[in-house]
Amino acid sequence: MAVTKMNVTTGRTKVASHSRRKQEASFVCPIPGCGSTFTRSFNLKGHIRSHNEEKPFVCPWPGCNKGFARQHDCKRHEQLHSNYRPFSCEGCQKQFARMDALNRHLKSEGGADCAKLLVSKGITLPLTPPKLETMPTSDVWDGLALQL
Ligand SMILES: [Zn+2]
Ligand SMILES: [Zn+2]
Ligand SMILES: [Zn+2]
Repeated sequence: MAVTKMNVTTGRTKVASHSRRKQEASFVCPIPGCGSTFTRSFNLKGHIRSHNEEKPFVCPWPGCNKGFARQHDCKRHEQLHSNYRPFSCEGCQKQFARMDALNRHLKSEGGADCAKLLVSKGITLPLTPPKLETMPTSDVWDGLALQL
């Protein structure tokens, strides 16, 4: 007889406290190595802008455009370019950063034998510089940086 059902409508109040406070962070920063997430797209946009502003020092070498937060890092990176010596003399294996430096070598007394060798191979002097497209991309520079 005295079976009283207590569980009528008492569960109501619990539902309110269960509301989800956390929103889905569905906007992810696309900058490699960052991975920051945001709930709103304009927050992400502002964040990406801050990435760019944090790198005011941009490498002046053509085709590179790498940005750096500190001038020191930028300068150090620039040295990679100047240390890069892609032009080697076929005669003496000496390496040069620029084509005109190699040509100057071939015209000099010390490079006379090298020049003769190149001409005997059918190569016309002075050598012509390669097109800018053959310059390494910034990915390659990153690889060089790792080797240091
Ligand atoms: Zn980011
Ligand atoms: Zn650079
Ligand atoms: Zn040489």
